[in-house]
Amino acid sequence: MLETFPRVQLAHLPTPLEPLPRLSAALGGPDIWIKRDDCTGLATGGNKTRKLEFSLGAAMAEGADTIITAGAVQSNHVRQTAAAACKLGLACEVLLEQPFAEPSEPYMQSGNVLLDKLFGANLRAHPAGTDIVAAMESLADQVRQAGGQPYVIPVGASNATGALGYVDCAVELLGQAEDQGLVIDHLVTATGSAGTQAGLAVGLRAMRSQLPLLGIGVSAARDVQQQKVYALACETAELIGQSGIVARDDIVANCDYIGDGYGLPTTGMNEALLLLARQEGLLLDPVYSGKALAGLVDLTRKGAFDGARNIVFLHTGGSAALFAYLDQLHT
Ligand SMILES: *Cc1c(COP(=O)(O)O)cnc(C)c1O
Repeated sequence: MLETFPRVQLAHLPTPLEPLPRLSAALGGPDIWIKRDDCTGLATGGNKTRKLEFSLGAAMAEGADTIITAGAVQSNHVRQTAAAACKLGLACEVLLEQPFAEPSEPYMQSGNVLLDKLFGANLRAHPAGTDIVAAMESLADQVRQAGGQPYVIPVGASNATGALGYVDCAVELLGQAEDQGLVIDHLVTATGSAGTQAGLAVGLRAMRSQLPLLGIGVSAARDVQQQKVYALACETAELIGQSGIVARDDIVANCDYIGDGYGLPTTGMNEALLLLARQEGLLLDPVYSGKALAGLVDLTRKGAFDGARNIVFLHTGGSAALFAYLDQLHT
């Protein structure tokens, strides 16, 4: 299904699929399993690495020498892109957007920002509300005028090419479940720029699986998020020659766990972070996986998964951002 697309090898695959017995017991609901995409291996790992195998595969096939991308200041996508660019010998130009007013010193300097700098990415600050797509295009023009060959990767690598990484992840997960004799009743993931959920939805349907997939939103309202995921799923299905396999109803998001906004801590996130740390010795992140697990925990407690035996939580990574939240997390 994906063999015809150019791809570079960046990730440690397959990522483990592991039980979380102590978390499951603490919640008293179905058995919870974790798909360890925090262990993709590139510069502390995370979900963007799978997408970048295809985005950067396309860039290399086009003969690019400079990658242009963008994200919030503490973007995990930017960090993984900066590392991958080093591995492939490409320059990396980054537009960083400050997502909220009055960020702390660690937010602006530590965590992913420190790692971006270690990888030598050229960071440019942009105020919130910048037209980032236009800004990336104009930077691409400048690179071309200077004789370079730019390749623009959108925020989160969330276009159809990047989403192929999560089509592949769905295939990988279904194969692992079969090998382990595990019947999965629900798959839960954080959803932001949409490529992860869109790719998973396409991969599941392409494999004729009806496994329900729930995205826990971290930024946009529910209708907006679901429409964004659905539109990208349609484009991704078309790219692999399977137009129409994803229905609008296949795309389900719950956006009740965002709190005051993208990147702003919530009590539930902090609680989920401590719960997974202390029950299982695992790290989440404050922006995505922490809020996603907060949703899973709350929905489990409310009985939303009653009757289910096994739930898989996709861990999308991001723990490098913990250090940027030094002064905002309760331990
Ligand atoms: C980017 C990111 C997500 C969201 O994935 P999308 O494909 O953008 O929806 C989730 N978790 C982490 C840690 C991320 O960096």
